[in-house]
Amino acid sequence: MMILFPDAYIDSIDELDIWQLKDRGIRALIIDIDNTIIEWNVTVPDERARRVINEAKAAGLKVCLLSNGTRKRVIDFANALNVPYVYNAGKPRKSPYRKALRLLGVKPEEVAAIGDQIFTDVLGGNRLGMYTILVKPISTKEAKWTRFMRKFEGIVLDRYNRRT
Ligand SMILES: [Mg+2]
Repeated sequence: MMILFPDAYIDSIDELDIWQLKDRGIRALIIDIDNTIIEWNVTVPDERARRVINEAKAAGLKVCLLSNGTRKRVIDFANALNVPYVYNAGKPRKSPYRKALRLLGVKPEEVAAIGDQIFTDVLGGNRLGMYTILVKPISTKEAKWTRFMRKFEGIVLDRYNRRT
């Protein structure tokens, strides 16, 4: 069960404490797109997405977007923010995380992996030994498969919330 627990759980990416992460030795962020930094299937970055990325960059953190989304969706979004990306990632597989690490030039323990799903974002980051941050999904609008998996996430989150 522990491999499914995030190191931190926040209400929204707006609550990301970049300086606290830097104090932990974090040098880079690997960030999920859909329902983490933008609403599901919205193709253009909004003000929040720009602010989060710009604040991280200004603090000296590197950023890579890591998404199970399709090529065009991910490339358009990442290019608008001028950050590297991995699309069709198939999280929680390890290989896309290794690809992101190569793009960033950092070690797993220097990365905070941020996302809204336990069985993809949290599990994937934990498998590599990254610091994982779960955010509440921006919206309830999401893919059918994701909605299905939320039931199982609920079971994990109950345990997480009652952990000692
Ligand atoms: Mg997501």
